[in-house]
This record gives sequence, structure tokens and C-alpha cells, in this order.
Amino acid sequence: MYIAIGICDASVLETCQVLAWILFELSIRCRVELSREAITMLPMFTFNFCPRCGHELAIREKDDARLRPTCPNCHYTHYANPGLAVGVLLTDAQNRVCLILRGEEPRKGYWGLPAGFMEGDETAEEGAIRECLEETGLHVALDGLYEMYSYRHTDHATSGVLILYRAHITGGAPRPGTDTVDVKFFAPDEIPFDRLAFHAHVAALKKWCAGF
Ligand SMILES: [Zn+2]
Repeated sequence: MYIAIGICDASVLETCQVLAWILFELSIRCRVELSREAITMLPMFTFNFCPRCGHELAIREKDDARLRPTCPNCHYTHYANPGLAVGVLLTDAQNRVCLILRGEEPRKGYWGLPAGFMEGDETAEEGAIRECLEETGLHVALDGLYEMYSYRHTDHATSGVLILYRAHITGGAPRPGTDTVDVKFFAPDEIPFDRLAFHAHVAALKKWCAGF
């Protein structure tokens, strides 16, 4: 089977990525080989060259029957694992929850829970505490796991996981960080649900408002 994809502008590119994803799924199930042009439309196949030795990557079927960018020279394989975000449901003595106003994309100008991506050398708990300090100026202690959310991004081509911990303040003073422009505590009936950044944050705050 030969698959041709034309690209005219960004919106067409996005459409082609979704189309390529559908074809990719079909190719796995029907064991049909896709052209490299079709495969490289997928977000997980954005690397063309080996990050280890610089050789051009080839698309190969690995032991788990998934096509993956693989280096013919040094045998490096690129695994496109989901992003892992960590954050806190931080409440104060007045039963208000801490939200930050995002100053950077994605979702600039929307409110969210203090959260961000884990670094490769820290635990999830350390990442949640660090992200909270960076975004709010507040030192916190964790009070256990609150909830875990697994989601797909809106283009349905990549996925992510958000781990949230309950937390309370141990020090510091609220102040915006490098990528936030405001920090504020909201009572349950004050939460700006129409101005929240992410679906997972909406779900977490609805759960909290329901008393969980
Ligand atoms: Zn290599």
C-alpha cells in the first residue's frame, strides 16, 4: 500500500497527523507497511537523526511489534513515552485551594493547580514540592496521593499522566513564579471553572468541591 500526504499549511499538517495516526493504528492491526513519509507525520516520530551518534534513524518494528525510530549505526531506539506531570492540591486553614494564573503557553491566561513535568533525577513527590515552590513561592509538605489522571492531548496522538498530591503550607509567601502571573486561594464557590487550563484540573477540583 502506498500512502501520499500533501501539506499546504499548518491546519492541513495537523489534519495529516491525525490521519497518519489512524493509518498507523491500522498498519499495526493489519500488518501493512507504511511509507516513511506517512510515519514521520506522527508526533512520536519527529526525530530524524540519532541523538546519540547523529546517524539517520530508520523506522523498525521492535520486539513488541511497534514501529519505532531506531539507529542502524549504534542501535539506539527512541521510545516516545508519555509526559509525566506532578502537582499539588494545596489547601489552607480556611478550606481554600491554591490556583496559579498561567503566564506561558500552553493555556496562557488560564488558572490551574500548581503542577509541572517531573525532572529525570527526582521522585514524583520531590517534583510536586519543587513545582509548587517555583509557581507559588510556597514551601509545602505532602499529605498523600490525591488522584491520578491519564489523558490524551486534544490531537489524540500523544498522552500524558498527572499525579496530584494533597499538600499543606509549611513556609514562604504567595508570589508568582517565572511562568505564572498570579497566585490565589479560592473557596469552593469561587473557583473559576470556566477559566481552568486543563481537563484533569477541572476533574480534580470538581472532586474536591464534592468533598473528596
Ligand atoms: Zn546512533
